[in-house]
Formats: sequence, C-alpha cells, structure tokens
Amino acid sequence: MHELSLCESIVETLEQQALAQHYRLVKTVWLEIGALSGVEAEALRFCFDAVTRGTLAEQAKLVILEVPGQAWCTQCSIHVPMQQRFDACPRCGGFQLRVNDGEQLRIKELEVE
Ligand SMILES: [Zn+2]
Repeated sequence: MHELSLCESIVETLEQQALAQHYRLVKTVWLEIGALSGVEAEALRFCFDAVTRGTLAEQAKLVILEVPGQAWCTQCSIHVPMQQRFDACPRCGGFQLRVNDGEQLRIKELEVE
C-alpha cells in the first residue's frame, strides 16, 4: 500500500529530526496533503497509527490539512481550481494545465517534547 510506505518515511523523518533537534516525543503532527497527491487521508491515518506503534510518535495526534488542487491554464492565463489530476480547465475545457498546488505531502508543523 502506497500510504504505508509514506507513513514509514514520515516516522523516519520524525526520528531524524528528534536527533537533530533533541526531542524525545512527538505529540502532534500537522500533515499537509494535496488533493492531487493521490493520498487517501483515512488510509494514511490508519497506517500512521500502525507504523508509529513503539516509536517516539506512538502517542502523536495526526492532524491532516487538506490542500486544494490548483493549476495554471496556459490558454486562459489564470489559475484554476483542480479537483483531480488530468481534469480539463473549468473555463476553456483545455488540457494545457500546469499543476502548481495540491501535489504535496509534507509535515507542516510538529509539537514535540
Ligand atoms: Zn483554460
């Protein structure tokens, strides 16, 4: 499962950060998930609970911030909202879109101890 390996890399990042920033426990993780990232928030939450067991993030609360998709239409020269990857431009119906937001999966903030 895609989400499982994502969670494993999140925990890896948390452990590396713990060494660099000298914390022992992660209390809250704010995670940004783009609407176009292909990540299921619920599946991610489920994996996060499983993967963090026995780690410094075992008690951590996961807060998911969903970021809407946005693309630049080269035809219209405007930014347009994008629900899904490979959607057409809602204004001109064209496909000359460059995604500029909504693809991310990143840790935005951490509460640690
Ligand atoms: Zn357009």
